[in-house]
Amino acid sequence: MAEDPQVLIAGGGIVGTSIAWALAERGVGPITVLDLDLAGVYASSELNAGGARATWWQPVNVETCRATLGFFAEHGDAFSFRPRGYLWLYSDGALWQQALAKRELQSGLGLDVEILEPRAVLERFPFLDRNTDELLGATYSARDGLVNPNAVRRWYRERAEALGVRFLNRHYINGVRTALASGSAGVLRTLRSLEVVEVPRGDPADESGALESLLTRHHWPASQVVEERSFPAELVVNALGAWSPIFSAKIGVHDVTEPVRRQIALVDVRVEDRPESLDLDTLGMVVDASGLYYHPEGPHVLAGYSTPGEPPGYDFAYDGREFFEAEVWPRLAHRSSAFERCGHVRGWAGLYAVTPDCSGIAGRVDGFTNLYEAHSFTGRGVMQSYGIARNMAALITDGAYDDIDLAPLTRERFGDRARWVVEELHI
Ligand SMILES: Cc1cc2nc3c(=O)[nH]c(=O)nc-3n(C[C@H](O)[C@H](O)[C@H](O)COP(=O)(O)OP(=O)(O)OC[C@H]3O[C@@H](n4cnc5c(N)ncnc54)[C@H](O)[C@@H]3O)c2cc1C
Repeated sequence: MAEDPQVLIAGGGIVGTSIAWALAERGVGPITVLDLDLAGVYASSELNAGGARATWWQPVNVETCRATLGFFAEHGDAFSFRPRGYLWLYSDGALWQQALAKRELQSGLGLDVEILEPRAVLERFPFLDRNTDELLGATYSARDGLVNPNAVRRWYRERAEALGVRFLNRHYINGVRTALASGSAGVLRTLRSLEVVEVPRGDPADESGALESLLTRHHWPASQVVEERSFPAELVVNALGAWSPIFSAKIGVHDVTEPVRRQIALVDVRVEDRPESLDLDTLGMVVDASGLYYHPEGPHVLAGYSTPGEPPGYDFAYDGREFFEAEVWPRLAHRSSAFERCGHVRGWAGLYAVTPDCSGIAGRVDGFTNLYEAHSFTGRGVMQSYGIARNMAALITDGAYDDIDLAPLTRERFGDRARWVVEELHI
């Protein structure tokens, strides 16, 4: 029997799940979230660093993150939210001048960002005892911190399910049916249905290779038997993260997003002669002037580095010790004798969904009557999720944003460089 048209959310990462919850909170239904793999083996929502800050340089990024941090703080224990601060070190003159200049904007938006002289950095963080002379200064935002992103996504999903949202796992969106619809706004298109292929469920370890094949190479493994279903659409939200351009291409929309590999290493710092000044328990996120970022993660240190010039692609290969030895350890040891001796534990690679201005894409998709999108949040999707979800839900139900104007994030901005939301403070 054919199903009734539904609100369909394409993608059950943190963005799709939070929007499903926010729509259900507003009484919208029925809602179905479709995802190939709700466990998120390749999803950025499961592979990120768990940093949460409102300290950005673009107002829309500050506001969405500030709202999300407030939400994290309300659920502090459930989300393991630890507001232990972000320390951001600068050695590049132009960037440092910009950091100083942006402080006024940040203060105006209610952020509390301290400026630290190099000597104050050393006094406050004595473990940063090497090459302090090359630093121009640092910013410290005490209310930023760390969060458990998996717990946040679980919370959104449990609340959404309690409100009747259906999450369908192993459902791969393979096609889209559209129809022309003419109205006062001219000829538009309506999404009639999503064409979905079901992947057998009894394969959690992906032994058939279906997930890997679909999410990295976009085709079915030859041996896979599949079942096709059509899901009639009342309204669709593209929340496919780094895979959003593949969906957009199916409906003739050029998506500027590129998937780019980002690697993270877990570092063992449990050496016996570790200086007492390295108190991991009180440390939040440190962003080194070299671009390396790190924070305590259980008994280890989690360190990430966005290798410049990484080519776009659905590449999940982790470079292992080579990454640790070439990119992570030298940067840690350059700034701190506490990291002189440390070891590589393991690591992983995930995707940033990168736009030309390094800000996300959110809003109604021009030319369609019933298509919305929220994706491409580079390294910011967790910490923006609540602010984006609540305001996307308001746009969808009321035609207007609630408390944050997301209009700067619509894709139309890429047609006019003056409207780009250029965010420099990404890592
Ligand atoms: C290494 C790394 C570090 C990061 N650090 C941080 C950080 O510290 N703080 C922060 O806020 N953000 C961070 N991010 C960014 C953050 O993780 C992402 O912005 C966010 O998770 C994006 O969520 P999403 O829901 O848009 O995408 P995803 O979580 O990637 O979800 C997309 C979903 O779409 C599904 N899918 C794809 N194609 C199809 C299809 N055709 N049919 C059905 N389903 C499909 C996938 O299975 C996936 O579940 C980091 C990211 C990486 C990679």
